[in-house]
This record gives sequence, C-alpha cells and structure tokens, in this order.
Amino acid sequence: MIPYARQSVVPEDIEAVVQVLKSDFLTQGPAVVYFEEQLAHVVSVEHCVMLSSGTAALHLACLCLGLKSGDWLWTVPNTFVASAVCGLYCGAYIDFVDIDPVTRNLDLNHLENKLKHASLQKRLPKVLVVVHFSGLPCEMESIKRVCDDYGVKIIEDACHALGAADQTKPVGSCQYSDITVFSFHPVKSIASGEGGALCTNDETYARQARRLRHHGISVESPLRTEKPYWYEQIELGFNYRMTDMQAALGASQLRRLDQFNQARLDKATVYQAALKEMPLLLPQIPSDKTSAWHLFVVELLDTIGMERDVLLSKLRQAGIGVHVHYIPVYWHPSFQALGFRRGLCPNAEIYYCRAMTLPLYPDMTTEQQTWIVSHLKKYLV
Ligand SMILES: *Cc1c(COP(=O)(O)O)cnc(C)c1O
Repeated sequence: MIPYARQSVVPEDIEAVVQVLKSDFLTQGPAVVYFEEQLAHVVSVEHCVMLSSGTAALHLACLCLGLKSGDWLWTVPNTFVASAVCGLYCGAYIDFVDIDPVTRNLDLNHLENKLKHASLQKRLPKVLVVVHFSGLPCEMESIKRVCDDYGVKIIEDACHALGAADQTKPVGSCQYSDITVFSFHPVKSIASGEGGALCTNDETYARQARRLRHHGISVESPLRTEKPYWYEQIELGFNYRMTDMQAALGASQLRRLDQFNQARLDKATVYQAALKEMPLLLPQIPSDKTSAWHLFVVELLDTIGMERDVLLSKLRQAGIGVHVHYIPVYWHPSFQALGFRRGLCPNAEIYYCRAMTLPLYPDMTTEQQTWIVSHLKKYLV
C-alpha cells in the first residue's frame, strides 16, 4: 500500500542517532539543546522548547497561557483531536469555530460573530487554537486583530506547517500569536520518532514550559549553593522531555527541511496539473502564502454521483492509502459524551463528507504518483 504519508530517513540520520547512543546522554542532553537552537533559527523565534510530542507541546502551551478549570478554549473541528483535548487536560470547556470552505482553515467571520456573542454572554474564551490545515497558514494578522479586541490569547497549532510562510514570515515566528506548536511525528514535515516543539518570543512562557516538561522542578533555588543536590518542585509538572536520540534525528532531518518541502511542492504541482479536469475540488493556495503541503486533500464534487467512501475503498483496493482528514473533532464519542451534537459546524461537516487525502511525501516516486492519478481517472471519468 502506498501510504498517505511517510518519513524519509537516510544514512546520515541513522549515523546521527548512533552517535548519541555512544555518548553520555540518552535522554534530554546536548542534542536537545542543539535541535532547539536550530529550529528557533529556522522559524525565526526567540525560544524553542523541545518536548515529547506535539500533544505535550499543546498541553504546556495551554498551561503557560494560564488556561484552567472553568475557562474556555476554542479551536476548529477540522483538526486532530489533540488541538481540542489540550484544553480538556486543563479542565477547560471547549467550543468550535467553523472553517472556511475554500481554505479549510478557521473562518474569520464566524470567529468574529462568535466572539461578539460570547462577549455579551460573558463567556469569552481565554485561548484560541488555530490550525494551519494541510500546511496552509491561516490569516494570522486578521485573527490576531480580532482576538486582541477581546483579550483572547492565540496558540498556532502548526503541526502541519513546518516550513510554511505567510508573505515572508515563517510559521513559528509567533508574529501574530503567543505560542506556536510543532510535531515531529513521522507523518509530519520532519520526523524525530515522537516529538514536538513549543516556540515563543515570551521568555516567561519558555521558562515555564522548560520547568513543566521536567515535573515542574526548579534547580534555581539559592539553597543550591550550600546543598548541591537540592531541587524543588514548584508546581505540578510532567515528564514531557524529548530524548537526545530523538533530537539527533530531528536536527539531522531539519537540515533537509527545504529539500523535503520542495519535493512536496513539486508533487503537489503534479497533482494540480493532472487532476484539474476532474470533478474534484483541488487545494487553492493564496499567492501571498507558502504551504508546507503536509496534506493534499481533494473534495469530490456533488456532480460525481459517487460517495467518497466508495471511491476511497476502490483506491485502497488498488493499493493507494488514501485517507480522510478530518472527522470533525466533536463527532468523536469522547466529545459527544460532553454534549456536542452533529450539525454544530456545517462547513466542516460538508467538507468532511467530501474530503479525501491523496498520498504525498518526499520519497513518493513518479511511478507511484502516476499510478494514483491513473486510478483516480479510471474511477472518476
Ligand atoms: C500531529 C498533530 C498533532 C499531535 O502531534 P503529536 O506529535 O502526534 O502529539 C496535533 N495537532 C495536529 C493538527 C496534528 O496534525
């Protein structure tokens, strides 16, 4: 089966991990520090804190922004559950803002209206998690302007968007947000096995995230001068550390980020040209934005007269690992149990019913892509 996504590991990646295995550090050590410096440089941000996963990064981002029991966190339904679950970890209530049918990102008008309404009810969210879906950056400047009017803090869930840019600013620079979060799960832009990063220009947040990833323990107590073994748990934290093996792999991969994203762009361009006459809605990238092309999602137009799931099964039988991103988050049983009902975000639901993710990753071969396109043609025309 041609997977929808796959990591690209070369001998120098393997060598980087082996070097760590021969060194003094296995868990968080110098390789983590190095990966943090390199990523901060690549995305133009002051502070980068490496963590055990993108989900851990979202959780700590919420805690840094003070999200607690009784607060509200808003996000979009067209995302992986972690974008919403991070709020539940903090005891917050969750609500969803619908998506724009063209960009498949957060709909600004919907956000503005919902904030106006929430303000009257005195139920404004403390945190908004925006998702750069498929690697396409959201309209951050406008989102920030609206959020500032209501005192809402912003987390960018950029797990799809390492290497993406809005005009010339890289995603991760936090120009219009408080914190940006990345994931290095093997399906993402670069792989570290498991792994994530929290990026911010706020030193207080960075400091707190570093403490929280290490059980909430501080070694900065003045007592340490007379008692070298002394440490204090200041607050409830977690073991969210990244290992040096993971960091070595991540840093080695980061060197090839531009190469990876160019390969993704080239393959996306091939799809765009090959599929343009087909009854499919193709991704549209505004001219001022650079997508990281994490996903290539097509939508089946109603005129096809074929259900998405029928086409998806046929393609899977032909060895093509097409997928669906995403089932609306609040459709999951864990959210239904919280009282969410279908119908809440109509655009995200219509999108879900038509959407299909085609395989896209740097090492996908021309033959594989030709196979995929020819089968789409076979079943659709
Ligand atoms: C992958 C992903 C996450 C979670 O990242 P992990 O590293 O797997 O924990 C969160 N949000 C989005 C949008 C993702 O795609």
